[in-house]
Amino acid sequence: MYAEKMRLDGRIAVVTGGGRGIGLAICEALAEHGAEVIIADIDPEIGARGQAALAEKGYRTSVHPLDVTKPAEVEALAAELVARHGRVDILVANAGIARSGVAAEDTEDERWLNVNDVNYNGVFWCNRAFGRHMLKAGRGAIVNIGSMSGIISNRPQKQTYYNAAKAAVHQLTSSLAAEWADRGVRVNAVAPTYIETEMTSYRHDNDGMIDVWLRDTPMHRMGKPDEIASVVHFLASDASSLMTGTTVVADAGFTCW
Ligand code: NDP
Repeated sequence: MYAEKMRLDGRIAVVTGGGRGIGLAICEALAEHGAEVIIADIDPEIGARGQAALAEKGYRTSVHPLDVTKPAEVEALAAELVARHGRVDILVANAGIARSGVAAEDTEDERWLNVNDVNYNGVFWCNRAFGRHMLKAGRGAIVNIGSMSGIISNRPQKQTYYNAAKAAVHQLTSSLAAEWADRGVRVNAVAPTYIETEMTSYRHDNDGMIDVWLRDTPMHRMGKPDEIASVVHFLASDASSLMTGTTVVADAGFTCW
């Protein structure tokens, strides 16, 4: 019974920003448990590369170009997938950008608007569009990717625009969960620590940055994409059927200190 609850056979799952990094690991975790996965990434080449990497491991996925900042594109994708598959069971709103390293007082309008547009507005557009179809079907699981940065303020890099957007994602998650809880749609979030992806590669260009990160982390290490994908899989599966509105912190203990 317990192993069965982890299975996703026949479920239709969309992962935004699924072409690489954490998103790609999520696609693999969901596919390995039987889901039919749609990789929705802004960059078709990255999406195709991710699809090829999963194909080598034996998982068949499809790729769809999607810019999460465009509500009309998001609506169109949701409608198209529902028309094709009859429903969408799982949405993982993972697409995000960081653009770390600029102090609050120096933050340009463009940077603030862009980071909030992808990381916050984009999450809402996706939740709204896919959530609407899930409500109609009376079932669905949404997992939003927040961040420990929505709980703490990172150092030494400055990134107020990112931290504030991620905190908003956590609150959006619990508000939507409350509205949709008695209509079969669960909405949860994951708040990762520093994960080894393209997004954090700037650590290599900043002397001593990684030392500060690891000193502040009780486990003294960064995470790997698969360590977030496992948590997302759990939240997307029936194994978490009693959970909604929660932000699960997967942070190597970072927020303990
Ligand atoms: P990556 O930069 O490796 O991957 C993000 C993916 O999202 C890329 O393929 C990117 O495409 C895509 N993307 C960017 N903008 C859009 C958009 N407008 N519409 C659709 N897709 C888009 O990042 P990670 O895998 O590291 O991050 C994934 C999520 O995890 C993000 O939400 C991030 O904030 C969060 N997170 C990451 C942490 C980390 O340490 N890595 C820690 C905590 C949270 P392109 O390359 O073309 O921009």
